[in-house]
Amino acid sequence: MKEIFLCKCGEIVLKGANHSFFENALIKELKFRLKTFGSVKVSHAQSTVYVEPSEGVDLDGVFDALTRVFGIVTIERAAVAEKNMDAIKATIREYIPAFMSDKRTFKVEAKRADKRFPLKSPEIAAESGGAVLSACPYLRVNVKNPDVIVRVEIRENAAYISAGSFKGAGGMPVGTNGKGLLLLSGGIDSPVAGYMMAKRGVKIDAVHFESFPYTSERAKEKVMELARLVTRYSGSMLVHVVSLTKVQEELAKNCDEEYFTLLLRRYMMAIAEKIAKKNDCLALITGESVGQVASQTMQAIAVTNEAVSMPVFRPCIGMDKEEIVQISRKIDTFETSIQPYEDCCTVFTPRHPKTKPELLKVLEQERKLDFDALVAEAVETKEEIYIPFEA
Ligand code: ATP
Ligand code: MG
Repeated sequence: MKEIFLCKCGEIVLKGANHSFFENALIKELKFRLKTFGSVKVSHAQSTVYVEPSEGVDLDGVFDALTRVFGIVTIERAAVAEKNMDAIKATIREYIPAFMSDKRTFKVEAKRADKRFPLKSPEIAAESGGAVLSACPYLRVNVKNPDVIVRVEIRENAAYISAGSFKGAGGMPVGTNGKGLLLLSGGIDSPVAGYMMAKRGVKIDAVHFESFPYTSERAKEKVMELARLVTRYSGSMLVHVVSLTKVQEELAKNCDEEYFTLLLRRYMMAIAEKIAKKNDCLALITGESVGQVASQTMQAIAVTNEAVSMPVFRPCIGMDKEEIVQISRKIDTFETSIQPYEDCCTVFTPRHPKTKPELLKVLEQERKLDFDALVAEAVETKEEIYIPFEA
């Protein structure tokens, strides 16, 4: 018996004239991502994407990969039957019992997209229901509130039989909303921020700031591991690694300690903006959340934001730490994020950071150094690491 996946696209179906742009992007992404599993056919008709693995392909692996593809709202695993009632009933008897061990009630929903099929939908449902009951006599029909809905769809090429659908990743196909540059640290929040923007169709590049030898090679490897985990959703990612060692040493030598973090964050933003512009990224993305730490008070964020003119997206801005943690667990970055390695923000930290900074005073401190020259030097000496998509 052949099994396929029927994927329903949510929001992208509503995109009017642009609808095929989104659908084509999804199909292209699926074809690329599923290549590693062998021969898998991907096609679409009537706002459904058909994913048809050839014989011998790892179906569970394909299903798992599908759950991380943005643009898919529900995934149905379905058996394929010939378009006649005997074949459909035989397939129901063979395929459906495996899904029913923990179920007590069901109903059948039949849909006849191919109007040439001789039976009408209610008749298909009645006959199919009979087949379910004969294979699983312990089940009862419950039309109002069934434990599971058995779907029988008669389409152009075949009949499809499924028992229940699974939640997809939602969102929009990656790349359909331009590219953004994620400021990726080793913490919990920034990988989540990257995931959230990728979910809205934004392709992600990243910049990571290190402060070697104050931060270690292992700390950097941890961040690359986080990037790799995010690519499972976002697709491949180019990570720019920038050294802030010189900036931090100069700040420590020349500026008031209570301003270190704020000044450093302005450097980060300015460097990131330069890299973003060179790489066609239209916005910066950070994992900031109001009030989380001293550098994320409203006043501090305003001062940091002032260093750039590009839009800065902060998808975690209104979330509690616990809510961010929940997402990081879902996307499997949490365990890596909590590994205790130093970050460039945790070296040279002021004992009493300014929590309500005034921009004029910050700029006064900033003028003690040649900001533009330090930014340019940091950008010039950066390293690039390409993280390929991993299924
Ligand atoms: P995270 O959990 O992502 O580390 P955080 O709660 O530790 O965030 P901060 O350290 O103040 O908060 O950083 C705020 C944001 O600044 C991060 O979410 C990230 O986008 C960016 N950022 C911080 N440190 C770095 C770094 N070393 N490289 C790149 N971006 C960074
Ligand atoms: Mg951090």
